[in-house]
Amino acid sequence: MIYLDNAATTPVKPEALQAAWPWLTSEFGNPSSQHELGFRAKDALADARARVAKFFNAKASEIIFTSGGTESDNLGIVGLALAMPRGKHIVSARTEHEAVLQSLDYLQRVHGFEITWLPLDEFGQVSGLEAALRDETTLVTLMVANNEIGTLHPIAQLCAIAHARGALFHTDAVQAVGWVDQNVAELGVDALSISGHKFGAPKGSGALFLKGRTAAEPLIHGGGQESGLRSGTENVAWAVALATALELLTPAAAAAERVAKLRDDFIRSVLQATPNAILTGHPTNRLPNIASFCFDGVSGEALLLELERRGVIVSSGSACAAGSDEPSHVLTAIGIDAELAQTAVRFSFAHDTSAEDLQNAVGALSRAFEGFK
Ligand code: PLP
Repeated sequence: MIYLDNAATTPVKPEALQAAWPWLTSEFGNPSSQHELGFRAKDALADARARVAKFFNAKASEIIFTSGGTESDNLGIVGLALAMPRGKHIVSARTEHEAVLQSLDYLQRVHGFEITWLPLDEFGQVSGLEAALRDETTLVTLMVANNEIGTLHPIAQLCAIAHARGALFHTDAVQAVGWVDQNVAELGVDALSISGHKFGAPKGSGALFLKGRTAAEPLIHGGGQESGLRSGTENVAWAVALATALELLTPAAAAAERVAKLRDDFIRSVLQATPNAILTGHPTNRLPNIASFCFDGVSGEALLLELERRGVIVSSGSACAAGSDEPSHVLTAIGIDAELAQTAVRFSFAHDTSAEDLQNAVGALSRAFEGFK
């Protein structure tokens, strides 16, 4: 099997699972307990927090463990918006992940927030942030990298523009970890979401970076764990796995350099092998590990099945949209019509994807197309 659906999820790294194992078995203490088992769990959690913080060049006190990208986005957006007294205006873009879009929808419906959607070009790049900001803008939320088309946003630059007008900045970095350096001090962001299962930690692990003493309204109420921002007995094992998986990542720059070359060769080969292929997203300003196409006239779902029959695992559009007949909201937001959007297929690579894997995938794609003739 050639697994090219790493943007949907990745296998858990054995080292991450091994590191987690004791905290699920012999060392099963509750970090809040006042006995040795509890103290050791508390120390393990603190150690994991410090290691995650180090990866992002943050302080340990700025890391809140969550159940993944969706929860981090909800806390980073709803939590900040409800705590900010500035006003009820937020700026974002329609290509964001559903976790962001639905958090914004909730703020709009239930709390009367107004959202300004930034203009997008055909590649999924935003413009016009400065003009969209108002005195009452509370928050700007824009992702580092798009999960369907891979297009990157210049976060440090966008964040500086938001800050100049006094607005906070949240970014969804779920797809970027391991591919684009996420140094929060350099980015300047107030909040940043990550999800463990995108880089070899278990599903249900994640974290939110929250800068300094930025006020946030908790979404889960209870015993006051995670500095009162995320109540509930902490998942020590998943926090340890998350920290371990992060440390196992090849430095982003090195991984990006190697895989971007493979991606570019792959894109060229696909465009040559299948004349009806159209690359979606920006040709160069994109994640090294995502190559996404529309295959005019061919159903993305049917192509996915044909590729799977030939041992190549991919995704049609985003995993969240899979199974629904709706065309991808990302593709329609960048001006691709609904019919063409139904032909989308995303190939997403891992740090260890090889040139041979990709040659074989192109071969499988050509053979799949033979079947459609
Ligand atoms: N944000 C982006 C950009 C994603 O790609 C995903 C997952 O697909 C999420 C958020 C949600 O993360 P999780 O699956 O950990 O809830």
